[in-house]
Amino acid sequence: MEPAIRADELRKSYGDVDALDGLSFEVDRGEFFGLLGPNGAGKTTFINILVGLVRRDGGTAEVFGFDVEDDYQEARDRIGLAPQEFNVDRFFPIHEVLEHKAGYHGVPRGEAEERAAEALQTVGIWDKRETRFDWLSGGMKRRFLLARALVTDPDLLILDEPTAGVDVQLRRELWRVIEQLNAGGTTILLTTHYIEEAERLCDRVAIVDSGSIVEVATPDDLRDRGTDQLYIRLAD
Ligand code: ATP
Repeated sequence: MEPAIRADELRKSYGDVDALDGLSFEVDRGEFFGLLGPNGAGKTTFINILVGLVRRDGGTAEVFGFDVEDDYQEARDRIGLAPQEFNVDRFFPIHEVLEHKAGYHGVPRGEAEERAAEALQTVGIWDKRETRFDWLSGGMKRRFLLARALVTDPDLLILDEPTAGVDVQLRRELWRVIEQLNAGGTTILLTTHYIEEAERLCDRVAIVDSGSIVEVATPDDLRDRGTDQLYIRLAD
């Protein structure tokens, strides 16, 4: 069976900057996979290629066997993305934003409403459904971004620093939600700068630096093989 993600010799440059410089790795179906690396390592560029926001210069990227450019819609419909930066329609109540998104991905209207309600309940902000995104607190915004990623019932959930800047209690709560999704079979790709987050959640992690993979291992393996210092430095 095709892996959830396959990247092979992926390249992307912005002018003189090689954001991705021959990035290759695979994520198995059902896996909880972490991408760790310093600022500017290329993690977000890779995610943007997967979801069709950035065009690659070379190499291949596939999601469940679908090329992210050549089979864009097949690949994109399987992905839910909680991005690092907020970019949300601010003129509608958040439940409508979710319904529009589900509709855009071909979910019929009645079902879109059910999906939106379910996603808001999953992340614990159902009582905020009539609120606009701008009026939510920072923590609520993080929850909403996760709900938005879930509303299309994705096979692959991509979380780009989902707990950046949230307090310990909310971080734990988001972990619980994400772990349950993974236990239900959803493949997860997570980027994080929090070492304890990667250790707690991930089956395997890849260390990315200067646009390529330095190492792929379980969090325990990395520590056992003495790459602890690198790991800690990257996760700082
Ligand atoms: P962070 O942990 O800070 O989010 P990252 O690993 O996600 O970093 P990227 O955002 O993918 O890294 O950036 C990789 C490199 O590409 C960096 O040097 C960055 O400055 C550069 N870069 C990213 N997007 C652009 C762009 N649109 N134009 C020019 N350079 C870019």
